[in-house]
Amino acid sequence: MAFSVSGIPVGRGIAIGRAWVLAPASLDVPRRTIERDEGHTEVDRLYTAVRAVDEEFEKMRQDLGKEVAAELRAFLDLQAIVLHDPMLIEATRDRILAEQCNAEWALVQQYELVAEQFDSIEDAYLRERRTDVRQIVERILKAMRNPGGSPRISLPQPSASETGPHADLPWILVAHDIAPADMLLLKQHSFVGFATDTGSPTSHTAILARSLGLPAVVGLQTLYGLIQQGEPIIIDAEAGVVLGSIDAPIRSIYEVRQAEQAVAKSRLVRLKNVAAQTLDGEAVTLLANLDLPADAAHAMDVGCQGVGLFRSEFLYMNRADPPSEDEQYQAYRNVVLALKGRPVTIRTLDSGADKDVPSVSGHREIPSNPALALRAIRLCLAEPDLFMTQLRAILRASAHGPIKLLIPLVSGPQEMVAARKMIATAMAQLAANGQAFDAHIPVGAMIEVPAAALAIDGLLPVLDFASLGTNDLIQYTLAIDRADGDVAHLYNPLHPAVLRLVHDVIKTCNRHGTPVSVCGEMAGDPELTRLLLGFGLKEFSMHPAQVLLVKQEILRSRSSDCARQAARILRQGDPAKLSAALSKWNQDRDHISG
Ligand code: PEP
Ligand code: MG
Repeated sequence: MAFSVSGIPVGRGIAIGRAWVLAPASLDVPRRTIERDEGHTEVDRLYTAVRAVDEEFEKMRQDLGKEVAAELRAFLDLQAIVLHDPMLIEATRDRILAEQCNAEWALVQQYELVAEQFDSIEDAYLRERRTDVRQIVERILKAMRNPGGSPRISLPQPSASETGPHADLPWILVAHDIAPADMLLLKQHSFVGFATDTGSPTSHTAILARSLGLPAVVGLQTLYGLIQQGEPIIIDAEAGVVLGSIDAPIRSIYEVRQAEQAVAKSRLVRLKNVAAQTLDGEAVTLLANLDLPADAAHAMDVGCQGVGLFRSEFLYMNRADPPSEDEQYQAYRNVVLALKGRPVTIRTLDSGADKDVPSVSGHREIPSNPALALRAIRLCLAEPDLFMTQLRAILRASAHGPIKLLIPLVSGPQEMVAARKMIATAMAQLAANGQAFDAHIPVGAMIEVPAAALAIDGLLPVLDFASLGTNDLIQYTLAIDRADGDVAHLYNPLHPAVLRLVHDVIKTCNRHGTPVSVCGEMAGDPELTRLLLGFGLKEFSMHPAQVLLVKQEILRSRSSDCARQAARILRQGDPAKLSAALSKWNQDRDHISG
């Protein structure tokens, strides 16, 4: 019988497909005593699995798109070295034969020994390599459990000759949890939806899922254990539910809804070349948020007027070392060229919290509170070589088209002054080398720390522009870890404290003539478009998948009405009443527009 599990919607729409269940990593394997003559069979199983993982790496190398290949190659090379380390594989073989135990058990015992040795290493970066060893062990274990199948973060392989009861359905990814780094790999696969047990709507994993424009539901808690590999399921991201064990009647109801949504989506496409302006003639700029250079094409497809946020930290993930200056320069230049003269806002490395980048912070102690630790601009100022490399790369790319430089997690003017000094030094170095760059590159700050929002007037003299990072602003204002599913219900963009900060920053910037945008998830939520217009916002930056929906809202809004209604909503001090007032306002709009 069909069942449904509720979670938190991330993307929009409906996906009908079959589940690709991503097994969680587990080192929990039983010991089995083997007969003396079984030893060589177990050793064979071990080596067969190692070869399967090797082949998997080779396949991943071939499958990776050109853009990402350089970033991931280093990561794959490192994992391949670990895979062939005699301390792991040969020692496991010896253990199987000496202790007469199954290959899985011997491998995990050997891993624990190696892990202990890593734990005693003083250098924090090398100590972190324990994670690579663990990942390799997990891959080998999965290959052993699933001989002949594709191991590890095994992705469904396209096959024309596939038969089976649901072979006509596309794949939906079901996982207990997915790290942002794995999500980057999945981004290149054609899943039609995502469902995870953990997560919250503004974790970076969710943001990556949303950037694919796919229906997704997170925080499902128990789904993973309920769904079988290959089972047909439905993701209803409008209602935030996943349906399992679906039968033909349910499937056809959802197929009708899906077809209706496809028609609505195709209507939206007509808005691509329509100027974004309100009914009373206020022009609005719609910009794209990009996670990888390859996303630039999508931004152009929906008619974005530029890039309001390029999250450069994703270039640093899934690899052993940070990207070199040349590698970064190529990536930034590719985005600038793809945008054909439209401005590109590149945010400098915003690592830390749920965006762990071991290659830049692995040599440091693990912080007790990562969201409040030495991350983003704080880390960049503490690691000048790291920062200077990135600044030079961005500046060099600025010779090919308009770039704006955005500094994350600023809490006060002193960080901007320090960052600007380093930008000036980077410019002097490039000039001395005869390398071209834009000497007037605008430099702005993410306003995402409440202190920066409250004291925005003190920051304005050192800013060419400001960009409200509402995802972190909400996290820090409400003391809610944005990646923690257990407190996701408390993460509330409509809390009066958040709205007042957002409103006040926009008003202050507008009063001083400093360009201000919102690049957090609030900007891409059509339910908030009129509220933000009412606050006086003229620049919205969001995932390309949201741009036409938000444009549709702008086209049917009147800015004078929005200002009046927004002022009324802002006066409401009770979060629940505020939320209700906004819903009512939005419902009236739906009613009027038919
Ligand atoms: C934000 O904090 O709102 C933001 C846009 O940046 P990120 O989500 O990458 O932290
Ligand atoms: Mg942020």
